[in-house]
Amino acid sequence: MSTKRDYYEVLGVNKNATEEELKKAFRKMAKKYHPDANPNNKAEAEAKFKEVNEAYETLSDPQKRRMYDQFGPDGPQGFGGGAGGPFGGGTYTYSTSGFDGFGDFGDLGDIFSSFFGGGFGGRTSRNNNGPRKGEDLKHDIEITFEESFLGVTKDLNIHRYEECTTCHGSGAKPGTNPITCKACHGTGQIKQVQSTILGQMQTTRTCPECHGTGKIIEEPCIDCKGKGKVRKQAKISIKIPAGINDNQTVVLRGEGGPGEKGGPKGDIYVTVHLKRHPIYSRKGDNVYCEIPITITQATLGAEIDVPMVDGSKEKIKVPEGTQTGSKFTIRNKGFKAINGNYQGDFIFNVVVQTPKRLTKEQRDLLMQLAKTMNEQPPIKKRGIFG
Ligand SMILES: [Zn+2]
Ligand SMILES: [Zn+2]
Repeated sequence: MSTKRDYYEVLGVNKNATEEELKKAFRKMAKKYHPDANPNNKAEAEAKFKEVNEAYETLSDPQKRRMYDQFGPDGPQGFGGGAGGPFGGGTYTYSTSGFDGFGDFGDLGDIFSSFFGGGFGGRTSRNNNGPRKGEDLKHDIEITFEESFLGVTKDLNIHRYEECTTCHGSGAKPGTNPITCKACHGTGQIKQVQSTILGQMQTTRTCPECHGTGKIIEEPCIDCKGKGKVRKQAKISIKIPAGINDNQTVVLRGEGGPGEKGGPKGDIYVTVHLKRHPIYSRKGDNVYCEIPITITQATLGAEIDVPMVDGSKEKIKVPEGTQTGSKFTIRNKGFKAINGNYQGDFIFNVVVQTPKRLTKEQRDLLMQLAKTMNEQPPIKKRGIFG
């Protein structure tokens, strides 16, 4: 807890004071509490003077003032106002989920830049004492070709941490509260000053007493052993959209582990794997397959049934004199594109089956046919398109 007075109060201005008003107030207060002007109670005046100085230093900087207005004198992490005040030397980062804390290397960066002329500024690490997103989980799922074609809803059995319902995530036995860690004063970090050839260097490490949480649980919750979360098995439904391809990932937002310190829940990333299909294959959004036809169908032409992936059949006319390997395309019978209204095609090649066994009747008929076609066909020249 801070025992600091409100900075606006210290300067005797209201919260909407302009820069000019702040400056004026500061000058007035500085004059009033200057140690030289208070020879009879120097110590008290000096303390007041320092307080005024600190208040002005913060409020005269628009960025620091904004942070002060938002988080108060202790800063967003409950930083005690040590040397240089609550904002001394720190860098900070914003993330989409809000304030993430001071960078640990603010001070170190200054030391380096004075030796090496900068270039160390980008190195910040995050204070792990702020709100943290819950754990992201990964899961793999195998589905059939048909399921990827039509879309499918699957149940997943996952193991994840969930907030402990006994202590509501605090980790403390119901009726008790975690206390502020004495080793780090709740910051979750211990600062150390080391002497090196570069001079004094300040490094920060995670507090070993509270493991960076800033809190000590004296009487842990029995059900979660003080962790605030318990591992549970959960059944989750996942909708896999039609058209999904092998190795694509579906994200279940907010289904992962519980967030910490007010952070959002994690997500589950489900990677889809397709089983091979004995008949169909996929390339882009098109479906490919081979359809066998008889020599008479190929020779005389026929209407054949082509099985679609969704189980329906399409009647397709194979013209007289169709050669093996001829390609046919059925428009818009392929995969749906996941994003958009586009649909791929169904493409098949016919394969003329040469009969391996014939009945006597078939053989006689073919022999008769053969007498009329007993000349060997000329060897096909490579055409100009060949
Ligand atoms: Zn608990
Ligand atoms: Zn600690």
